[in-house]
Amino acid sequence: PPVIETTGISKIYQMGAERIHALRSVTISIQRGEYVAFMGPSGSGKSTLMNIVGCLDTPTDGSYVLNGQDVSRMSDNQLAEVRNKEIGFVFQTFNLLPRASSLDNVALPLIYAGYNKRDREEKAMDSLRSVGLDTRAKHRPNELSGGQRQRVAIARALVNNPSILLADEPTGNLDTKTSHEIMDLFEALYAKGHTIIMVTHEEDIARYAHRIVRLRDGLVESDTVNTDIATHH
Ligand code: ADP
Ligand code: ADP
Repeated sequence: PPVIETTGISKIYQMGAERIHALRSVTISIQRGEYVAFMGPSGSGKSTLMNIVGCLDTPTDGSYVLNGQDVSRMSDNQLAEVRNKEIGFVFQTFNLLPRASSLDNVALPLIYAGYNKRDREEKAMDSLRSVGLDTRAKHRPNELSGGQRQRVAIARALVNNPSILLADEPTGNLDTKTSHEIMDLFEALYAKGHTIIMVTHEEDIARYAHRIVRLRDGLVESDTVNTDIATHH
């Protein structure tokens, strides 16, 4: 069964008297272990789709089944619970706590999950190791490079062993070389079996994904296996 299955999802935003159709009957199925990029120009509906897939919002119409669970009609509280369990988020701006060490940043989601301190530190250290940053466990964000900060954020996203890694413009604040290093890390995570969804408007970044879903005006314009991928190996 797919990890993600949206069937005819629409999203309408009401702006005063105006109704904005951000998504128009979007149907997408994503299997466990896929690496997918959502692409499209500004205003095409990428953020709206990501918010729904990431359980931050619900569709106006249609259904969304995540790991066998219909989440499209859930309350905000139910949605938050599913989100914490199923989704690991990575953002353009890293969103790390500035005064906390890498280890403490990565361990944070484990506090909500109810683990004791020893288990939290062990799991956080394992997660830092998986992104190659265990030697920076005691450093604070301002003592790290941009690429290292993003790797800490990726370790934090993965520490709860989520079903999906959902990355919103993950290289938007990084220089070209560092962006490609982060994409190399995503490739390694993909090889380990992680399911990755990345939202980007950059062709150079989307090309790393193994499947590209292109949105335009709230519609899926194309959904193709990335035949370009061989150029990276
Ligand atoms: P993208 O991420 O591709 O730029 P969005 O999903 O942000 O696209 O936006 C899709 C459409 O929905 C745009 O027309 C945008 O202006 C509109 N939109 C997005 N969020 C809201 C909102 N909260 N309220 C009203 N309109 C919105
Ligand atoms: P590990 O725990 O060593 O990372 P697993 O075999 O548990 O390896 O999982 C491999 C990958 O599949 C991980 O990225 C994990 O987050 C993901 N995964 C685990 N369970 C599920 C699930 N029910 N649905 C989708 N992905 C999952």
